[in-house]
Amino acid sequence: MIIFPCDGCGICCKHIEHIPQLKEFDTGNGRCKHLLDNNLCEIYSDRPDICRVDRMYELYFSSVMSKEDYINANLEGCKKLKMK
Ligand code: SF4
Repeated sequence: MIIFPCDGCGICCKHIEHIPQLKEFDTGNGRCKHLLDNNLCEIYSDRPDICRVDRMYELYFSSVMSKEDYINANLEGCKKLKMK
């Protein structure tokens, strides 16, 4: 099974300003209120679907693209955030 190779940098949780599903989590500068100082999520086991790469694939993308393409698209998004 292909899984997203998350390195735990926390950058995606520091740029949630354009994600409608996480609007209530935004502290005002794009950082999620649930992101801890060690880059872990304080509600990890209960985090919303939008924060779950595999769950989002199952729900919305499995019918339109392969898992490999989906993971690569997510990796591209991750790289772009890191270059900001
Ligand atoms: S809920 Fe957790 S995984 Fe989702 S953006 Fe916030 S810190 Fe990140």
